[in-house]
Amino acid sequence: PAAAAISRNPANGALIATYPFQTPAEVESLLEASAAAFRLWRATAIEERVAAYRRLAGNLRERSSALAALITSEMGKTIGEARAEVEKCAATIDWIAQNGPPLIADEPVAADNDDQIYVSYLPIGTVLAVMPWNFPLWQVVRAAGPIMFSGNGFVLKHAPNVMGSALALQQVYEASGFPKGLFANLNSDNETVARAIEDSRIAAVTLTGSMRAGSAVAATAGKALKKSLLELGGSDAFVVLADADLDLAVKAGIQARFHNAGQVCLAAKRFILEAPIAEEFTRKFVAAASELKVGDPLDPSTDLGPMARFDLRDELHRQVERSVAAGSALLLGGRKIDGPGNFYPPTVLGNVKQGVAAYDEETFGPVAAIVTANDAEQALLLANSSDYGLGGNLWTRDIPRALALARRIETGGVFINGFSASNARIPVGGVKKSGYGRELSHFGLREFTNAQAVWAR
Ligand code: NDP
Repeated sequence: PAAAAISRNPANGALIATYPFQTPAEVESLLEASAAAFRLWRATAIEERVAAYRRLAGNLRERSSALAALITSEMGKTIGEARAEVEKCAATIDWIAQNGPPLIADEPVAADNDDQIYVSYLPIGTVLAVMPWNFPLWQVVRAAGPIMFSGNGFVLKHAPNVMGSALALQQVYEASGFPKGLFANLNSDNETVARAIEDSRIAAVTLTGSMRAGSAVAATAGKALKKSLLELGGSDAFVVLADADLDLAVKAGIQARFHNAGQVCLAAKRFILEAPIAEEFTRKFVAAASELKVGDPLDPSTDLGPMARFDLRDELHRQVERSVAAGSALLLGGRKIDGPGNFYPPTVLGNVKQGVAAYDEETFGPVAAIVTANDAEQALLLANSSDYGLGGNLWTRDIPRALALARRIETGGVFINGFSASNARIPVGGVKKSGYGRELSHFGLREFTNAQAVWAR
């Protein structure tokens, strides 16, 4: 394997930069600096953290154009999506600055007498974060925002193909006045990551990525008796019941499945349609998907840029081929687009059933699987018949019924008449093989803290 992180433009295959892995001595000084920065940061008053977060949000917005251009060049999302990603980071940092302090303030506990009892949420140290390339800034900020606000340090092991974005983000943190080394990039192979997890200067681990990566990193953390959080993707059901507003559902379904060229963990992947509307929904969905423009991600009229990595397009295409061989109908797309870029067209598979790749596996690209259900009960069974449990979508005009059905959907989130999306005010995370632990909201702010009980008699 290469002894460097390599960043390549997936729109044309051109090499952007090569970032040699850090030497053992550099990794050692990074961990040392991180520990020193943590000692400073844990002692800061909450007002100081709020001020740093305000500066961070401002700096993200100020550098938005440059950051967005870098994201697009490294992983291929459209420039509009890249700008929206930077803005989402800034808005989330603002939200934490605004709402975070009371969420991690000491929590009084009622006593039977004059004793004083409370719970403090104290930082635990430096958290090592292993992150993927699909949202080079957002995945990181979603983790780092709450973790660092609670007084922890943050060492980022980013995906090698977006190392430029990782370094740019570190510069924004440094320019915002965080202690030097508090937010640091570890650029290394996975063996070095494993050794860092075992190192006493790392307190815990958080990972967003595949099941394979999550299982490996959590095993190392478990052996070292360290806490881990895993966010491992999903195969969200997008259930459309017969009484739904079909046009709205089609529009949202298109956005849900094809934004970011389909490379999204929390996104509709299996469209489970109640029989009476299945044909109409499918017809409208295929028509809308066929209108999407695939091409240069810098062109503002483009809907889908290239996929981020050539090997992942090959893998996605094999999933499509296996699904078709197993009886799914190819309704749209389904072939690699020729040329130096890594483009794959919007693809729709019909008649998808359990046991088929597009149903059982996560499809991390622009491929929608259409599944038909006889009624709401069967739709629910199908929605839950997945190894994953990240998000779920339910479309119906009957809100009370939807709320009752939501409790029976085995996922970390349910979105009714809308599509799945993370948001600072709600927890994000999964059940089953989508992982464990929660990011964002008060759950994220407290996830990597020591809930210290204090009882004074
Ligand atoms: P990976 O899970 O392999 O990569 C995500 C991150 O984990 C990268 O930083 C990667 O670094 C790291 N990683 C992988 N293995 C280890 C390990 N043993 N120890 C330490 N770190 C590790 O995903 P891929 O990019 O290969 O994508 C494969 C599939 O994963 C996708 O098709 C999709 O299904 C899923 N995925 C889900 C994401 C989500 O948002 N939940 C995001 C990305 C992928 P390195 O590359 O250096 O190994």
